[in-house]
Amino acid sequence: MKNNNSLGRMEDLEVWFITGSQHLYGEETLKKVAEHSEQISKSMDHSRQIAVKILFRPVVKSPEEIYAVCQEANSSKNCIGLIAWMHTFSPAKMWIGGLRILNKPLLHLHTQFNRDIPWGEIDMDFMNLNQSAHGDREFGFIMSRMRLNRKVVVGHWQDENVVRKIDIWTRAAAGWNDWQGGKFVRFGDNMRYVAVTDGDKVEAEMKFGYSVNTHGIGDLVKVINETGDSEIDQLCKIYSEQYQLTDNLRKGGSQYASLREAAKIEIGLRNFLQAGNFKGFTDTFEDLHGMSQLPGIAAQRLMAEGYGFAGEGDWKTVALVRLMKVMASGLKGGNSFMEDYTYHFEPGNEMVLGAHMLEICESIAAEKPKCEIHPLGIGGKADPVRLVFNVAGGAALNASVIDMGNRFRLLVNEVEGIVPEHDLPKLPVARVLWKPLPDMQTACTAWILAGGAHHTCYSQNLTAEHLEDFAEMAGIEYVLINKQTELYQFKNQLRWSETAYRM
Ligand code: MN
Repeated sequence: MKNNNSLGRMEDLEVWFITGSQHLYGEETLKKVAEHSEQISKSMDHSRQIAVKILFRPVVKSPEEIYAVCQEANSSKNCIGLIAWMHTFSPAKMWIGGLRILNKPLLHLHTQFNRDIPWGEIDMDFMNLNQSAHGDREFGFIMSRMRLNRKVVVGHWQDENVVRKIDIWTRAAAGWNDWQGGKFVRFGDNMRYVAVTDGDKVEAEMKFGYSVNTHGIGDLVKVINETGDSEIDQLCKIYSEQYQLTDNLRKGGSQYASLREAAKIEIGLRNFLQAGNFKGFTDTFEDLHGMSQLPGIAAQRLMAEGYGFAGEGDWKTVALVRLMKVMASGLKGGNSFMEDYTYHFEPGNEMVLGAHMLEICESIAAEKPKCEIHPLGIGGKADPVRLVFNVAGGAALNASVIDMGNRFRLLVNEVEGIVPEHDLPKLPVARVLWKPLPDMQTACTAWILAGGAHHTCYSQNLTAEHLEDFAEMAGIEYVLINKQTELYQFKNQLRWSETAYRM
């Protein structure tokens, strides 16, 4: 069976490097501007830190050229955003037309070709060429005047931190690009009566560019039932190679038939997702008619391939998990659907145990997962097969998107993943331990005041900056809880934000 990675390739995506200038300076200077820009964009393109292509584009010197390149960027399938830099002064009224129509994310790079002032040689020619210190301010004004979101990165283009910040932004842009026209499928509806997982799908499609549509569980069951025996055999063999199967799930074991059933569900789900070109799915244990088990290992493995997933009809988290997987493509560590499950309130050692009924992505596993079967306790279905594992410690975060009615809010809490000190021999699910920053009491108070969901995407390899950049692109509210969070200020932030969004 081919392991179909549903994530696109970062290296197929392009960010266009656009340098602004004007005709005033004459041929000689403009030639230099072009040379320098090409050198900077190539250096970024060749940087191992940046996964996408950075494409040099000819220097723009007039409103017509600026408009044309923005129009071209809008319609280019591979262009996920623009980096703009004003090597010289580029009168910004020239930019209004282009910026008005631009619908791709923009990063404003405030750099200069020379790192240092050449003290002994500097003359007026140098001054006329190296003007970003004021040229970029003119460009910044017009973007602020037009109320356009962007990321501003300041520093010399060879500075490691500048390259790192550009990489972060390109990853957010890749995620944003993935959402445009993206399709997510919902089997069944929302879990009955649950509030936070629900929301306005029309508004989400207008704001985020992805669509969420429901398919009856019967449509999926039909595809599952078309699965052939040899395909099932093959997948069971893969299970036995990749995981530590418990004895009862091995060939000849008492519950081998359940493993085959789980494999059949996985194959059917994958076929359904591929046929519909879906980027993720959600199901609900309240609507599984015709399915014998809730998809456990299937959801876990499809997530590991790059599909978005969340339980109980939570389509916003499905999209978020997919987004974060695209953004983190190629990075060490993983991203998974997560739920704050149970607390450890030991004074001075407070932490959260995160898990779900079944569906935690093996991309965050610290070890070869065990493959086990246990009763679920709710839902009234046959025992589902699932992967069980622990998760490594280290810096991580939880992210949640909620629908506040008049806006979407992206909430991020930086956490410290904790290596478990105790065995959990009776806990039959994958689990994670973390300490939320700045501390349990402040973090949970802030999260609850902000209305953050119990469902999140847990990330080991994205930073708050990735998500902040993303929120700017999407034009949504961004709320961060980290080591600097202080409740008095935090409450005010929420209060003022509420007012800002009413205006
Ligand atoms: Mn849940």
